[in-house]
Amino acid sequence: MKLINVSDIATYAICPLKVYYKLVLGKKERINENIVFGRIKHKFMEKINEVEKEILEGIKKDEIYESIKRKFDEKYSLIFQNLKQDYKKEIEKFNIEKRVDEEIGKIKKEEAEIRAKTAVKFVNLGFYGKELYEVVPKFLCEYEIKSFVLGMKGRIDKIRIDKEITPYEIKSRMYNNKIWLSEKLQICGYAMLAERKFKTNIDYGFLKFKDKTVKIEIKNSLREILIDLKKEIEKMIKNKTKPEKKEVACKSCGFYEICK
Ligand code: SF4
Repeated sequence: MKLINVSDIATYAICPLKVYYKLVLGKKERINENIVFGRIKHKFMEKINEVEKEILEGIKKDEIYESIKRKFDEKYSLIFQNLKQDYKKEIEKFNIEKRVDEEIGKIKKEEAEIRAKTAVKFVNLGFYGKELYEVVPKFLCEYEIKSFVLGMKGRIDKIRIDKEITPYEIKSRMYNNKIWLSEKLQICGYAMLAERKFKTNIDYGFLKFKDKTVKIEIKNSLREILIDLKKEIEKMIKNKTKPEKKEVACKSCGFYEICK
């Protein structure tokens, strides 16, 4: 059974043709600035996930916020520098050093703050070291979930595991008082996948824009649209039907050359 990626369903809501190129014709999107930036961002989130245990277990009894935050900052800065080195050629090719520094630098700062703030609450309750790691709410980044029941899969930017499970999708744009249906569908799909994985109900998730974090209700109407679009994609794959062209976001599309 072919699982449909949640991000492809979200893309389908904007441009079905793009999903046709990818899933029916098996074409690869031409690498562009946005794709490279997205890869670096995803890699950064994945890597900070890997050091969470080590940092938390290294926190000492009664350690203060500033000291805890410094631990997160130091690790994250190292990860960031290494990633910039790994992607040096691509960063130079697309001239995105400033964007990488600003946008991933901001994510780095915010992630260190939120994790240090969360940790210090438990340090103040007397937890530290290994025990601290056990009790502190977890943040899973770049977390992949597959569901054969839903027929979907997805890699979630961030999930907060506490009494409730909360998915986050990090966007690379300003809020501008506007949320697109595709963005709502994406967080809805991730919430549905997380519900299956963690056997719970999820009523909301968050879209984290550059300047604002917005709570999105996972309404039944949204779930239905998502499932309907998923079925349309499955039908398109089965019948190999080419959708109509919509003139949308074409300039930044990696299929622009073959779609002209
Ligand atoms: S170039 Fe435009 S119409 Fe063609 S696949 Fe990309 S977004 Fe869709």
